[in-house]
This record gives sequence, structure tokens and C-alpha cells, in this order.
Amino acid sequence: MQTEFRINDRAYQMPDRPAVVICLDGCEPAYIDAALAKGVMPALADMLANGGTRHLARSAMPSFTNPNNLSIACGVPSSVHGICGNYFLNPETGEAVMMNGVEYLRAPTVFAGFQHAGAKVAVVTAKDKLRAPLGAGLDCSDGQAVCFSAERADQTTTAVNGIDDAARWLGQPVPAVYSGDLSLFVLQAGVRLLAERRPDILYLSTSDYVQHKHAPGSDEANAFMAGVDAALACLLAQDIRLVLTADHGMKAKHRADGSANVIYLAPLLDAALGAGQSRVILPITDPYVAHHGALGSFATVYLAPDGDAATTAALLAAIPGIDTVLPRAEACARFDLPPDRVGDLVVTCTADWALGTRIEEHDLSGLDAPLRSHGGVDEQLVPFVTNFVMTPPIAGLRNYDAWQVVTSLVD
Ligand SMILES: [Zn+2]
Repeated sequence: MQTEFRINDRAYQMPDRPAVVICLDGCEPAYIDAALAKGVMPALADMLANGGTRHLARSAMPSFTNPNNLSIACGVPSSVHGICGNYFLNPETGEAVMMNGVEYLRAPTVFAGFQHAGAKVAVVTAKDKLRAPLGAGLDCSDGQAVCFSAERADQTTTAVNGIDDAARWLGQPVPAVYSGDLSLFVLQAGVRLLAERRPDILYLSTSDYVQHKHAPGSDEANAFMAGVDAALACLLAQDIRLVLTADHGMKAKHRADGSANVIYLAPLLDAALGAGQSRVILPITDPYVAHHGALGSFATVYLAPDGDAATTAALLAAIPGIDTVLPRAEACARFDLPPDRVGDLVVTCTADWALGTRIEEHDLSGLDAPLRSHGGVDEQLVPFVTNFVMTPPIAGLRNYDAWQVVTSLVD
């Protein structure tokens, strides 16, 4: 077994106890503040009172699920690993397609790197869309590593996932994909994996269903956080090093009457540039849009070959609610994005707004609660909680520093 090695040009050490990273999807820091204030996270409170630390970190941009899960998994931003959304315009085909496939990933994961160095690795995700990219390069055959999603826990095999019928193993039916229970299933699977297999590296990635629907401090959010805390207690009882962070925050993006507060970009661009002169891509788009209607706070705009990026940028920047409009090169430099996977312009909006293409292209029928979403700069702030003293905290701490911090033996 190797004790020190590099992955994506960052130094890692083999941990002396299981190193656990929880990515609590959509965990705006206020969810933890409110839950602690209400007293519904006693295990977390106890951990913080006994040497644990609570910092804030910034997520990778865009502040969406896949880019950040892959950033955490690789320890580097999208400019290195290539995954900058769920959905993008493939420059090779000119078609907008999903970016979930392993073929789009350009860097090895920390998981594959640790396995190569001799570590036992386990990865559990809520939705199946993340399982393949997070499991890239990981050899799960014959249970050498474990990698599965809660969503398809009843379909796992030892050959592919390193475990047979994970739902039966855990003794729980597969929860609904749109439920808080899907996330709690992930955490409870982590508890059991630790007890039975004691992996050196354990990554648990939940879903943000609860956070999209319920504000911090609401009864529903606190009940969910209490469930998280119960699992946390069982994890912490097993002599681990823990970092709990999030892929992105979550903000209310609706008016007082509950209607979604959206800037629809395509009609504005059509009016200014003429029809067919631009194309708006929303990287939040994926098959699971019922809880956000594909409305987030980050968009990228492709212009016709003779389009004027500077003039278009000035036009968009003047729209109330839009906080960043950058041409491709500047956007990639500021947000660590891969230039071949973003358009001529990158656009973000402030916390209380969302960006859309055209109203008729968004199916909001599944939105049974006022819109809450993410994707912009205002949703970059996430918790970074450790069960050990972290001194000094890394300057400019990012959520994707999690594996370096949790596996560092210095505490
Ligand atoms: Zn997310």
C-alpha cells in the first residue's frame, strides 16, 4: 500500500482511519444553522463541541450538482475534469446533449487513485445519474470496491457494483426518486458499509429534493436534517475522519405570490439580435426537472458566427437580476470552466432570480412548491464541517478540497 501519492497534481495520504466525505446536496449553510438552533442535530452539536469545526467553503461553478460532485471526486474544478453541467452543446455535433457519460470526464477520480494506491473504496449516490461518472476507473468486480445509487439499489450486482441487491442488503425498499428518504438511504448505507467493510475511503452523495421544496428552518427541512443527524451519529461512532460539505447552496427564486421569478433569455436575445441569432443552454437541464423546472441561475449563450459578444454582453448585463455576463475566455478564467464546453457568453443571476430559455420550453407543472434553485455565484457558499480540528483552514477553501483535508493525517 502506498502512503503518499498524487492525484490530479494534488498530494494525498492514505488515511489511518476511514475517511468519509458527505456531500449533502443543496445544503445551503442556513439549513444547518436552523437545525442546530432548533436542537434537531444533537450529534452534530456534540461533534462541534468536542473538537469538530465548522467553516464555509465555496463550490465550483456553475453551482450545480454534477460539476460539483465531480469536482469533489477529482479534487479539481471543471476546467480540469471537464464536467460543467448536466447538459451542454457538444461542439463536435452541434447538438445539445446530456453530459452524464463517463466519456466526458477528463480526469481520474480520487476514488480510482486511492484504490490504485491500495485503499478500500466505497461510493454511494442518491440518483443513478452520478454513479457512472463517480465510479469511473473504479474496479468494483468481486467487491473490490463498492459503487451504487440508492435509486437503483435493488438492481446492483457484485460484478458491476461490488455488492448484490443493495436494497435487500440494507433491508430497505428503494425510496421514491423524489423524496428525502432517497438521501437518508444513502447515509444509512454508509453506516452499514462502514460497519461491515470498513472502507478507507467512503463518499456519500445525497439529493437536493428536500432543499428545492423547503426553506431552511421549515418543519420539513428540520425533519430531514434530524434524519441526517441520526445517520451522522452512527457514522461518528465508528472512529472516522469526516468532512461534511455540499455541492451548492439553495435560494428562493419566487415572488411573494409564489410565482417563479424568471428572466427568460431567448425572447430578449431574439428582440435584440433577431430570431435564430443565438442559442441559450441551461446546464441544469436533466431528466429530473420536476422539482426545479430546469430553472437555475446559470446560463451559457451561443451566438451566430458573426455575433457581437461584447454588445450582447452589455445588453444582458443591463437586465435587472443579472449579476455576471462574461465572454468565454474571461468566464473560464474566473470560474475555472473548460472553454470548449461553454458558449460565447456565460450569464448568472442574483439569489432571488432564475434564468430560463422561453416560458413555453419550461414545464413547471411538476413544481408544487414555490421555486427554489441554484447555479449562480450566490449559491456557491456551502458548509464545510469536520470532526477534527482544522488549523489553519485552507485560505479560499473550496468544497473540492474535501478529500485532501479529510485524508490529511495532521490534526
Ligand atoms: Zn445538487
